[in-house]
Parts: sequence; structure tokens; C-alpha cells
Amino acid sequence: MTELSTSPRVAVVTGGARGIGLAIGHWFLAHGYNVALLDIDGVTLDQTVADLAQPERVLGVHCDVSNSSQVDAAAKAVVERFGQVDALVNNAGVAVFKPALDISFEEWRAVLGTNLDGAFLCTQAFGKLMVERGRGAVVNIASISGLRASTLRVAYGTSKAALIHLTKQYAVELGNAGVRVNVIAPGPVETEMAKLVHSTAIRSDYYDTIPLGRYGTTEEMANAVGFLCSDEASFINGQVLAVDGGFDAAGVGLPTLRRGGKPAS
Ligand code: NAD
Repeated sequence: MTELSTSPRVAVVTGGARGIGLAIGHWFLAHGYNVALLDIDGVTLDQTVADLAQPERVLGVHCDVSNSSQVDAAAKAVVERFGQVDALVNNAGVAVFKPALDISFEEWRAVLGTNLDGAFLCTQAFGKLMVERGRGAVVNIASISGLRASTLRVAYGTSKAALIHLTKQYAVELGNAGVRVNVIAPGPVETEMAKLVHSTAIRSDYYDTIPLGRYGTTEEMANAVGFLCSDEASFINGQVLAVDGGFDAAGVGLPTLRRGGKPAS
């Protein structure tokens, strides 16, 4: 039995300067955690930390998660500041959507570097701190693109599928030390990333294909992540949770049947 600390819990969120990562940061702050936000975009990160206006509870760390020495330095900075880590959310991600035969090796490496290497490195660095204390939770942010293949996602989808497996690998080993590791697979969420890669036509296809008929919100992603980090999820380990309005359950479905047999107008 590990002695429970009375000091506030500490959460580390990568890619926390904006979007889903920032919403996750808000969730942790609202639930009493101190929060370290790691991001490669120092300008946006500084602005975000200033906007949060809780300097005693929020630490911004300029860090490229695909760079092992920067990740090690970030872990050191978090420990120096807050003394412990209770939750890690590997949220930092990049998307390049290009045909499989056209995407360059550099683009492939860049996507894998952040989306997969970043989670590997951060889980090593911050996971060690949690294992030492015999408790903690890691949540990775994958994507529905990691659950099923689709066009233009050879790098992005492969990185997210690998991240889902990485989750299970870490869940098996860190679980032995009392640290749970899970992954969510978001459907489309209205963020800067989505604005970049979702055209009007793609949006309309998503609306048609998602049973709930809309994009998810960043808060809905944060609620799922927060739950998986919380004591309420104390026996959940190595699981992938699709937070996608039913997209994964429905797959492509049969659009004509969904329209009650009527042809598309
Ligand atoms: P976003 O682009 O708005 O935010 C991503 C953040 O990660 C940015 O602040 C960026 O600077 C940071 N980042 C990128 N590379 C980094 C690196 N190497 N090191 C540190 N920080 C880095 O994106 P978002 O939509 O909020 O996406 C967050 C996560 O959710 C990503 O992993 C993404 O793949 C995943 N996701 C998003 C959607 C969606 O529709 N928006 C759907 C499924 C999954």
C-alpha cells in the first residue's frame, strides 16, 4: 500500500498550448491539479500560461516532445517545480494528409517523430517518476484514424495505430507498478488542426457519417481524459476509448439507409 500524498496532484499535458491539450489543462485545473503544459510553440504557450493567470499552479515548458534531451529537461523542470507527477497526457500531435505514394520521407518522419516518438519519450521520462511512487495514470491521444485506415493518412493513421499499441505495451509493464495507461481515439474535433486539414466537403462527409451528426468539442475530449486519469477509472488499464459520436461503431455505414432509403439530394 502506497502512502497517499496530501499535496495537490500534478498533471503534465503535452501540446497544451491550445486546442484539445489546453481543454485538458483546464479540466485538471478545475479538478484541483497543478498543471505543466509542454509545447513546441513557445509564443502560443507563453500567451496561454499568461491567460490562465494562475502562476502558482501552471508551469509552461517549451519542449519538442520528439527530442529526448528536451523531454528529459522538461521532466526535470516539472519535478523541480511541483515535486511529483500524477498524470501524463500525451496529446501533442501533428497531421500531414497526403497520398501514400507522394508523402516525403521527411514528412513521414516528422509525423511519427511527434505522434509516436514523443509519446514514447514522455512516457519513459514521466512514467519513471510515477513508477517510483507506485501510482499514476497516462492517457494518450490517438484518433479514429488509428482504428481504421482511410485515404491520405498513411503517416498520421499509422502513427496513431502505433500509439494505440504503444499504450498497451506500456499498460502491461507500468501496470505492474500501479501506473495505468489508456488511450482515447477522438473523432473530428473543432480545433486549429481540424481547420487545417478538414475542407468543407470533408466536414459534410463527417456530419453524414457520425451518428451524433456533429464534431466533438475539446471539452468532451477533456472529460474523457480526466475520467481515465481519475480514481473512478482505477481498474481501467490498456484500453482504447473512441470518443467519436459513434463513428467507430457505425463505420462508413450505408448512407442511403441512414437517409431512410432516399437517394442523396
Ligand atoms: P492543435 O494543432 O490545435 O494542437 C496541437 C498542439 O501540439 C499545438 O499547440 C502544437 O504546437 C503542439 N505540438 C505539435 N508538435 C509538437 C511537438 N513536437 N512537441 C510539443 N508540442 C507539439 O491540435 P488538436 O486538434 O488540439 O490535436 C491534439 C491531439 O488530438 C493531436 O494528437 C491530434 O492528433 C489529436 N486528434 C485531433 C483531432 C481533431 O479533429 N482535432 C481528431 C483526432 C485526434
